Amino acid sequence: MEVGVSLERAIELACATPMARRSEILSLDEARGRVLAESLASKVDDPRFDNSAMDGFAVRAEDCSENGAVLRIIGISQAGGEMPPAVSAGQACRIMTGAPLPSGADAIVMVEDTSVEGDSVTILGPARPGFIRRRAENLAKGHEALPSGASLTPASLALAATMGHGEVKVVARPRIAILSTGDELVPAGSELNEGQIHESNSHALASLVERMGCEAIRLEAVQDSLDNLRSTLDSLADCDAIITSGGVSMGEFDLVRKIMEEEGDIHFWRMQVRPGGPPLFGTWNGTPLFGLPGNPVSSQVVFTILVAPWISHCLNYHNELGPRLARRIRVRLQDSVRGAPGKLCLRRIRINSEGDQLTASTHTHQGSGNLHSLVAHDALTLLPPDTNAEVGQTIDALWLS
Ligand code: AMP
Ligand code: MG
Repeated sequence: MEVGVSLERAIELACATPMARRSEILSLDEARGRVLAESLASKVDDPRFDNSAMDGFAVRAEDCSENGAVLRIIGISQAGGEMPPAVSAGQACRIMTGAPLPSGADAIVMVEDTSVEGDSVTILGPARPGFIRRRAENLAKGHEALPSGASLTPASLALAATMGHGEVKVVARPRIAILSTGDELVPAGSELNEGQIHESNSHALASLVERMGCEAIRLEAVQDSLDNLRSTLDSLADCDAIITSGGVSMGEFDLVRKIMEEEGDIHFWRMQVRPGGPPLFGTWNGTPLFGLPGNPVSSQVVFTILVAPWISHCLNYHNELGPRLARRIRVRLQDSVRGAPGKLCLRRIRINSEGDQLTASTHTHQGSGNLHSLVAHDALTLLPPDTNAEVGQTIDALWLS
């Protein structure tokens, strides 16, 4: 077991014990919001044929060099209709947006720039080759436009459909159990007796787990007793991973750490970060287990910086296009922020856009029990150990999504 590791080392150690990646084939309807398990290549050219970007007339540009040219209308090209007749010198063909370009035509005049009388059209504006959408100009058949590990967002679902895929192979959602520990915890909505508080971490963690493309199995909190903890952990053998919160510090009742030390296998304990110093990672009967701190802010921060990258690694998510909870940015501080001795410091900040810069401000106190600080802010500083940052300084931060 390593004790007091850097965030980078913690991620490295956790990634050495991944959970399995499985895949399944789903229809596009079922695949919304899922993650591709293999790259998707286009089965077709997009567009499939040269077509018009405008409602108007398909013409030969050379016939329209003079304003007021009169051309004979020889037919119509409709989206989904029959192939239109060829256009010869002095002729024009009505054409609708998305309809195939008649052979012989090399430009489109917008309907707004024409005047029609009987079967003649007078050309009153430019004939533009640029109004023709050329075959395969978006995507050629065989092009891998959607990489493995990309999220099926609204745009990528539509692109998969455009490319001809009615079904896609996606990453199966691993089952991740979420277990809060603490004698003081009762479910939200229940009456509080003396010394009790509403359990909140499991709700945040379940939501974070789902946003990382996994299935959250949220359990009721367990009491601080080794027997309860052991039997609950043993009941989770069919889960792919376990996330606990609470009970990993130095206290007498910090039993997650104790039971993992005595009966499980701890790979590291404590991380050089603030908030969120005491997490542990290891296995319980072979199942990867993250022991997150109980403090509400700490549990979410540690999930974001440690568990989310582990999930991305295990499930082979695409760096830019896969599910993620945060993106690294540079921001100029509007308020000073205090760092932490020997620890990477993740203060909560709010990102604003000012001129050509992102700036950051603080709005609440930064206690690791103050959940409001995570609601009122939308980013975390990445202040290196032993550094404070002053107003006007530009620093690294994680913009939470
Ligand atoms: P612990 O890590 O168990 O010492 O808990 C640290 C602090 O977080 C204590 O104030 C706990 O009451 C609080 N806490 C622990 N777990 C939860 C939870 N699931 N929901 C809300 N607060 C919690
Ligand atoms: Mg506790």
